[in-house]
Amino acid sequence: KAYIDAIEKLNPTLNAYVHLTFDIALKAAEQADQMLKEGDAPPLCGIPMALKDNICTDGLPTTCCSRILTGFKPYYDATVWEKLKKQGAVLLGKTNMDEFAMGSTSETSCYGAPLNPRNTNYVTGGSSGGSAAAVCANLAVYSLGSDTGGSIRQPASFCGVVGLKPTYGAVSRYGLIAYGSSLDQIGPLTNSVKDAAIVFDAVRGGDKRDQTSVDYDYGPSLTQCLEQDVKGLRIGVAEEFFEGINPEIKSKIEEAIALLEKNGAKIEHIRLPALKLALPVYYIIACAEASSNLGRYDGIRYGYRTASYTSIEEMIVKTRSEGFGDEVKRRIMLGTYVLSSGYYDAYYKKACLIREEINREFDAVFETCDVLVAPTAPNTAFPLNYKGASPVEIYLSDICTVPVNIAGVPAISVPCGVDAKGLPIGMQIIGKKFDEATVLQVAHFYE
Ligand code: GLN
Repeated sequence: KAYIDAIEKLNPTLNAYVHLTFDIALKAAEQADQMLKEGDAPPLCGIPMALKDNICTDGLPTTCCSRILTGFKPYYDATVWEKLKKQGAVLLGKTNMDEFAMGSTSETSCYGAPLNPRNTNYVTGGSSGGSAAAVCANLAVYSLGSDTGGSIRQPASFCGVVGLKPTYGAVSRYGLIAYGSSLDQIGPLTNSVKDAAIVFDAVRGGDKRDQTSVDYDYGPSLTQCLEQDVKGLRIGVAEEFFEGINPEIKSKIEEAIALLEKNGAKIEHIRLPALKLALPVYYIIACAEASSNLGRYDGIRYGYRTASYTSIEEMIVKTRSEGFGDEVKRRIMLGTYVLSSGYYDAYYKKACLIREEINREFDAVFETCDVLVAPTAPNTAFPLNYKGASPVEIYLSDICTVPVNIAGVPAISVPCGVDAKGLPIGMQIIGKKFDEATVLQVAHFYE
């Protein structure tokens, strides 16, 4: 009830939630109470939480903050939500996001942007901006977001919270509305690393409804790894991650690296030359997959349909023209272009080949390093309606996060001080595939 009161008070300004589910929350809380009385309740039983609006919830609005999905209520639950529900989770609502998770500020939401609780003149980051804002403002204990190229980690860094993008395949994507299927992954946003470990434990695992998910044996609980120190751990620092980074951020991350070294970690200076190609590779692959994934919104099967039309073709064209926002249209066009017969070899195929090269570089680096440490973003939060920025300028700000999705490895963003304006800075810890344990361990030690 305290969370509901806080949401009623603060959400009209912060716009972190776009759909509220208080009736369901109150009922779930009663059931959780019962589970707790009976004893042996799971750790998340009764804990109030939020879901990004691209995670399907049976009978509850799931719109991806797009006009084209207005009124859409799925008739099934995403696996992550099914799992949490069984564990007694209390869903307060669905959180704001960039339309179809395309963006880095959450300003492409059809419901208007959420505001950064640390300073409401600034964006939350994106695309899981509402999920980060809700946790930051204590309007939920934890939330789930999705990360295709940084959408959990970058808003976590802008709002000063923790955000974990798990290994590709560690968490089922069943019921996550697809953006770039080979890159998308669900993960937690929390106020502490320990919470991130608990939530990840609660949602991970293989799922026969997602053929790319893996039932990896992490042992009984990832919270066990948190108590270890960093002595002897090999921490990789790649200079490519620090090129073009705001000097204030660079120096804070360097201080953090020095602290880890002081505590017995071994710093390895390594190179990742293919990193400079990660951004174009990401935007080609993400847009290509998005253009295919978004083909299903035709006004027939889901959500919005245009009011008047005289043929099916006109209906589809008008529905898509009216239903999608500018950024989504830009990406569908880019994606269709790079997949077209005349340009496939020059763009899409080349991007897939370079993706392999980036993966090989990461594999090689992890033979000599346990984790990599890097900034989460080259900048702190942008001001709202940042007019100086072209779409490309915003794309460039994803440089530190997209390589991680291309390689499918896990990474966390943890708060690492503030800049001169008082805006939070995020440090990113990147690990080997399925080695969330070491990522969480280093993050918890630093926190
Ligand atoms: N900012 C990136 C993009 O717009 C990442 C988004 C995401 O991870 N969903 O594609």
